[in-house]
Amino acid sequence: MTKEDITSIKQLLSTKKKIVIVPHKNPDGDAIGSTLGLYHFLLKNNQDVQVISPNDYPHFLKWIPGENTILKHDTDTDNCNALINNADIIFTLDFNAFHRTGNMESVLANSSALKIMIDHHQAPDDYATYTFSDVSMSSTCEMVYHFIAMLDQTKNIDQTIATCLYVGIMTDTGSFRFRSTTSTTHRIIAELIDKGADNNAIHNNVYDTNSYNRLQLLGCALSNLKIIPESRTAYITLTQNELNKFDYKKGDTEGVVNYALSLNNIIFAAIFIEDRQEGIIKISLRSKGTFSVNEFSRSHFNGGGHNNAAGGRSELSMRKTIEKFIGILPSYNKALNND
Ligand code: 5GP
Ligand code: MN
Repeated sequence: MTKEDITSIKQLLSTKKKIVIVPHKNPDGDAIGSTLGLYHFLLKNNQDVQVISPNDYPHFLKWIPGENTILKHDTDTDNCNALINNADIIFTLDFNAFHRTGNMESVLANSSALKIMIDHHQAPDDYATYTFSDVSMSSTCEMVYHFIAMLDQTKNIDQTIATCLYVGIMTDTGSFRFRSTTSTTHRIIAELIDKGADNNAIHNNVYDTNSYNRLQLLGCALSNLKIIPESRTAYITLTQNELNKFDYKKGDTEGVVNYALSLNNIIFAAIFIEDRQEGIIKISLRSKGTFSVNEFSRSHFNGGGHNNAAGGRSELSMRKTIEKFIGILPSYNKALNND
């Protein structure tokens, strides 16, 4: 984002505009935290703002300030489409290609609103008038902080905005442990705490509100864990029947793949989750070091993301998907064993 871009955006926001903010489908902590952080910031700038999510999000995000104002496109389509078609400006946060919003793809692509992208995923599309894209960033929430700083408005960050931004930095960095966590990330976090973000309460709200069923499902996932030592790979499967057995709720499998990656000497981890309704196997991939799961997913599983965290999908059965995965791995053995 250039100085000229910032000047133009300041000019744009100097008068009241109709603004819609959109996260990706199946929004996570960073997607909800960043859209709501920006929402509260724009409200303070006297803007007319609405967050529209493609669909619902997990229970452990349903306490974030302003969360109850979010509209869901899948269950409120006409109303959401009207807002999008009437918008002057659409911010797209935590994604960089319209197809990542699922069924919102066409209404976004056809809208004549000015688009502003704030995102940290690889290979951004070029739909936005102003693109703030940086793959080195820990999170979109960190980028929203930088965006506010570029507008010279950090003084306007209050406890509400600080809380929203803290959530996404915390969740996207695995609680400040992933490689993308820098000293700047920590300085921003320190400032957010100074502005009133209650770090202890936020961790508690996100991580310590599990249901008994969710922990039992985790137990099931861990008992399905398989290791392929020669590829330094571990993977987990969860079938629809297993999800049903433990009364699966959205978000219950979040973070489970990290247990596979926590094994000694394992640098590549995958979880395969059956979704019978969509007729797919949803895949989450994680790695340590230089092995790019973004490239792996783009090449074989119709997805993408970051070097060390990506998602994908398979339209084969669970058995065939696992066969495919295991079949592909040997061609990566060199890359998986080189550090
Ligand atoms: P998760 O495994 O948690 O669903 O996703 C890991 C990371 O990859 C997240 O940053 C997510 O936004 C991104 N991601 C997940 N699925 C896809 C996909 O299909 N395409 C792209 N480009 N990114 C994805
Ligand atoms: Mn993110």
